[in-house]
Amino acid sequence: MGTIRGLHCVTCGAAYGPNDVEYTCPSCGPRRGTLEVRYDYETLKASLDRDAFQRSGPRSQWRYLPLLPVESDAYIQPLRVGWTPLYNVSDVAARLGLSALYIKDDGQNPTASYKDRASSVVVIKAQEKNKPVVTCASTGNAASSLAGFAASTSLETVIFVPETAPEAKVAQLLVYGARVFLVKGSYDVAYDLAAEAAEAFGWYNRSAAVNPFMVEGKKTGALELAEQLNWQVPDVVFVGVGDGSVISGICKGFAELKMLGWIDRIPEVVGVQAEGSAPIAVAFAAYDGKDVWFEDIEAATVADSICVGKPRDIIKAVKYVHTHGGRYVTVSDEAILDAIIRLARETGVFAEPAGAAAYAGLLACAAAGELEGASAGVFITGNGLKDVSSARQVVGTPTIVEPSLRAIEEHLK
Ligand SMILES: *Cc1c(COP(=O)(O)O)cnc(C)c1O
Ligand SMILES: [Zn+2]
Repeated sequence: MGTIRGLHCVTCGAAYGPNDVEYTCPSCGPRRGTLEVRYDYETLKASLDRDAFQRSGPRSQWRYLPLLPVESDAYIQPLRVGWTPLYNVSDVAARLGLSALYIKDDGQNPTASYKDRASSVVVIKAQEKNKPVVTCASTGNAASSLAGFAASTSLETVIFVPETAPEAKVAQLLVYGARVFLVKGSYDVAYDLAAEAAEAFGWYNRSAAVNPFMVEGKKTGALELAEQLNWQVPDVVFVGVGDGSVISGICKGFAELKMLGWIDRIPEVVGVQAEGSAPIAVAFAAYDGKDVWFEDIEAATVADSICVGKPRDIIKAVKYVHTHGGRYVTVSDEAILDAIIRLARETGVFAEPAGAAAYAGLLACAAAGELEGASAGVFITGNGLKDVSSARQVVGTPTIVEPSLRAIEEHLK
């Protein structure tokens, strides 16, 4: 159990005790005042042995319990979260001029997205805090993940998703028994409504960025990637970016491993945004190392999970990536759809558009000659079955046949 030393505002630097504030820094407000969870790293460094995880850790993200903000293992759900496969695809690496390429398939989580890493943590926090109802706004995955993890407990879930959320994600919500509100508006509108409702009705809010514990769950992908490679991290890693929470978690995970002395360097973390939804990439380009300047936009992209015009974790996503020497790239919707097909046919991993966006970023950087001889990791954050209609746009149609061998022969000619 990680002993939290405090919550630090990423804008003004104010330090709060673990129970002083619920969500964000009161003086900086919900957008700029996102909080960073800090532990007693000196004590952790002295007491933890990285090799012990390899010997006896459970095959889930709970192997890193001492680095997570939960008080005990009392509320850990039975669902297996994390410890997702890491595929070493050497043929593809060679074709792209890389020394190695690793695909981390987070579509293999219980509700089929990376979001399970955070939902599992927040469901525990809600129980520790005696909050009977959890809520969140989501483009789809965070919600279906929260609903799934809450379903294994006595918590109730109230969900706000945009009316346009993909069918499979809405179905997941209903199957898990969540109370679902399809909001007439964008994700950004749904987000504000969820925050208002949480405040008005006393629900625990899981929405990205506002809840400081989200990034803690989201850091475990980085911890796993490092451990699965025997603590020899790749030169560069790619991840799709919407609100900026997942990339912040990945940066924080690597940074903590470095502080503990378990890895000797932090990989270059490359955030991949869709061209029609890239406010973080824009803010990053303008960042001077002091104040984060940003502008909200009306976002539009086929990658629904990263279609975010008003990114809530933008301060962390800009500052962390800057501090650790990462960067941002943007890719077109066409490149994202193409990457779904290439990833599936080259590796056997079927990603939803936002997951494939990370692969599209890798392909673009490789094509530009920026990765010559480098080792790379790609986080595939969501399963392709969550949004088959996007993938169907770029594949052919199957052949309808009479049930006879003759008919098959005709078609094979
Ligand atoms: C949420 C999500 C992302 C991006 O995470 P952010 O924290 O919003 O930046 C990427 N891919 C998938 C599949 C997601 O569900
Ligand atoms: Zn502050």
